[in-house]
Amino acid sequence: MPRDSRAVVIGAGIGGLLAAGALSPHFDEVVVIERDKLPDEPASRRYIPQSKHLHTILVRGKYSMEKIYPEWGKVMSSRGAVSGDIGLDVRSVIDGKYLRKQVEVGVQNFFASRELTEWALRQCARKLPNVTILQETSALALVTNDAKDAVVGVTVDEHGTHRTIDADLVIDSSGRGAQGLAWLGAIGYERPAEKRIRVNLTYGTRHYKRAPWHFDGAVMLGCGATPQINRGGVMHAQEDDTWIVTLSGYGKDIPAVDEEGFIAYARSFAAPDMADAISSMETVGEGHQFKVPHVVWRDYKGAKLPANYLPFGDAIAAFNPIYAQGMTVAAEEAVILADCLAHGKDDLQRRFLNGADKFVGKIWNSSAARDLALTADPNDKKRGSVQEAVVRRISLAMATDGKVVGAFQKVANYIAEPPSLMRPGLIARVIWANRPGALKRASRGNARHNGANS
Ligand SMILES: Cc1cc2nc3c(=O)[nH]c(=O)nc-3n(C[C@H](O)[C@H](O)[C@H](O)COP(=O)(O)OP(=O)(O)OC[C@H]3O[C@@H](n4cnc5c(N)ncnc54)[C@H](O)[C@@H]3O)c2cc1C
Repeated sequence: MPRDSRAVVIGAGIGGLLAAGALSPHFDEVVVIERDKLPDEPASRRYIPQSKHLHTILVRGKYSMEKIYPEWGKVMSSRGAVSGDIGLDVRSVIDGKYLRKQVEVGVQNFFASRELTEWALRQCARKLPNVTILQETSALALVTNDAKDAVVGVTVDEHGTHRTIDADLVIDSSGRGAQGLAWLGAIGYERPAEKRIRVNLTYGTRHYKRAPWHFDGAVMLGCGATPQINRGGVMHAQEDDTWIVTLSGYGKDIPAVDEEGFIAYARSFAAPDMADAISSMETVGEGHQFKVPHVVWRDYKGAKLPANYLPFGDAIAAFNPIYAQGMTVAAEEAVILADCLAHGKDDLQRRFLNGADKFVGKIWNSSAARDLALTADPNDKKRGSVQEAVVRRISLAMATDGKVVGAFQKVANYIAEPPSLMRPGLIARVIWANRPGALKRASRGNARHNGANS
């Protein structure tokens, strides 16, 4: 008698949990394998060290998560995830001199810890009767048929005991470590071609107590790098009345994470806003550092792969976290997978990888140009600088024009397409806002008070 259909997902991170939600209606059983011990409450865990750092969800990611798990937003809110408008409630310092106009865009987003985001997804996955999460269980190898042209299972180490879990489909969502490359190598498959950019980025993060009057109730503050000072930081509100503050730098610009050094690093930014804010707040807990040496996109679509094997999430592409794209890409891939499965399981690998490749390519192209601008290769720098120049003009226009803010924020959150920024009316607004003298009037200099209590 044939056994019921079973999909195995390697990794219960953001990607794996979302993949499980997409698979659930189409397989009798979905088994998620996770090497970590999973906390009962939202909390950090050993194999997700990045969860100690700021994780912004883009609005497209939020929508996609809700498509896979319609009750996810309710779970987030019930545990204190903060909601805010992506224009009105978000402060941003442009070019070290100007404040972005705070205007209502009419689009709400969540601001929460990565721990809560993942925990809420886990609660949703656990509610699905055919999904099982096996924790403290590590995937060791892919098992193939005799012809080695199809994956038929995964060998796992479950609390010290090795066994094979048979599977009709294996999804590798094991994260940026990309262990799938070694697993595929062991069964005779070559590594896919990849694009890799060295970014040499360091994150430093601390938490602070939040009061409702901070920044007049705004829930996020960003102080971006400038052409002269390539350091920046973002802080956003999250559950438990705290701010998570992540500072970043490239190369030798490394944020200290002790209390004093952290504020001193923020003080070295082009604008004083973040240092002013956090120096008047009470800090909570320890500081943490994270290094991202490179960003990478693996061309699985162009690679020879065994049937029944799909890479997923960071295993396909790991981006520069500054652009906050990884969770959104994972969520969108889950939506693509659900759409593919809705049309049947035939040729699933090719259809999924085509769809994922299109979306990942869009994301990669929007951020790689900025990453290339950091590299030493002069040709790459040139390519990066054209896009940089356009983005810079639009950014400056946001100091004075609320319509540009709305249009840009929608594109930055991937709920509008970039050509919407090229509409003649909007271009005219950008040009007008950049006319000589216009920005001078918008400049705050150092006179205007913009501290946390304003
Ligand atoms: C410092 C930092 C900041 C970031 N900030 C943002 C942000 O602001 N916004 C955003 O959208 N994204 C951000 N990201 C990216 C985001 O964390 C990931 O893109 C997202 O979590 C999707 O990852 P994933 O599910 O593919 O992998 P992960 O979340 O890393 O999950 C992989 C899981 O697989 C498990 N695993 C690994 N190997 C095995 C094995 N052999 N057997 C069983 N289980 C295994 C791991 O334990 C882990 O639970 C950031 C990343 C970093 C590094």
